[in-house]
Amino acid sequence: MKLLYCEHCGDLFNLTNEEKTCKCGKAKGKYFGNLYAEVSGGIPIGIQNFSFFNAIKARPRTGLGKRFEAFVIPKICETIKSPAKRKERADGSKKQVVLPPDN
Ligand SMILES: [Zn+2]
Repeated sequence: MKLLYCEHCGDLFNLTNEEKTCKCGKAKGKYFGNLYAEVSGGIPIGIQNFSFFNAIKARPRTGLGKRFEAFVIPKICETIKSPAKRKERADGSKKQVVLPPDN
């Protein structure tokens, strides 16, 4: 699953097929299809679904909690595109900047 973090207001929210925007309006994004997402103005975060749902199943009653794996998605990624970066291309190429799958 992918989330989007806004460095300006601190909002961190999950992406869905409907566009979502952070509280300050500087970060927004949405999924299109099952795998790809388009984001702008924020930092995409990936959560490994298997790890996350296993941690939920193994939720401890007390103590420190159960860890799961999450990561900051790289700037260039196969499954996330950024409309802003497309506009930056001066050569007129249509190549998109995209981020990788959840796994
Ligand atoms: Zn914000």
